[in-house]
Amino acid sequence: MTVADGPLEWLALARGTLNRVALHRRDDAWLEAAWADPRSRVLVVEDGQVLVTHEPAPALVFVPPDRAPGGDRWLLGVDDDGTAYFGVPGPLPAVEGAEPAGLRRVGALLADRDSGLLTHLVALEHWHATHRFCPRCGAETEVTAAGHVRVCPKDGSQHFPRVDPAVIMLVTDADDRILLARGPQWPADRRSILAGFVEPGESLEQAVAREVEEEVGLAVRDVRYLGSQPWPLPQSLMLGFTAKADGDVPLRPDPEEILDAAWYTRDELRAAIDAGEIVAPGPLSIAAQLIMRWYGADLPKMPPF
Ligand SMILES: [Zn+2]
Repeated sequence: MTVADGPLEWLALARGTLNRVALHRRDDAWLEAAWADPRSRVLVVEDGQVLVTHEPAPALVFVPPDRAPGGDRWLLGVDDDGTAYFGVPGPLPAVEGAEPAGLRRVGALLADRDSGLLTHLVALEHWHATHRFCPRCGAETEVTAAGHVRVCPKDGSQHFPRVDPAVIMLVTDADDRILLARGPQWPADRRSILAGFVEPGESLEQAVAREVEEEVGLAVRDVRYLGSQPWPLPQSLMLGFTAKADGDVPLRPDPEEILDAAWYTRDELRAAIDAGEIVAPGPLSIAAQLIMRWYGADLPKMPPF
């Protein structure tokens, strides 16, 4: 079996379908009309949790604008039929049959529109909660652009939602084995591919090569981009790559970042999962999708999320 060609086909958190209508974010008349429209839907978020129903299938539970908590209203987008969707931070309303859930639990289970809405909303909530003050002068900033900009009332500077780019790479050797490693804080049966944040002044390809060299002492070539998904847990954008390592260079795991690292054939990975030595990653992560693209099928014993 060879590594499949082409980009990643399905990424749990990159499935949003709404038009974000950014041009309406500063149009107060449009925003007021949309809020006054009883067909508009509001998703309330509290500490990363929203209301979800599991019957008949996992879906977000919305409330009409007049049942939403007061305060900020963040415009998330508009559906094909013109329905507007807002996100509002505040206490979750009581809705029969609904229960609180977060992105990690339901992001892979929700249908495309709802997965995209939740991904957008929890990213905004975290940003607002952690970026209240102006990084230039320390004044408390004000929300504008329907939740997508904060502006400083003292110096007028504008501040946009933060996204931290991180590369994640499936490294193969000359025998088409993959490199899996365990981070120091991880449970004993957890393994994944290597990943790390992009540094200032660095290209994505350079970040891939640097992280692999730092974490396991390998040089890589043929760095290829395969796809991305937002990972607002709390504010990353995961950029997925493949890379190739040559020769029979011994792995030198950096003890601060990697507890152990090893090469796996497909048979060895399946055997390790079957034996319970490794727990397969869930479908939410881009790591799982990169590993499955190499593996050529769903991994055995994959958890539902
Ligand atoms: Zn300021």
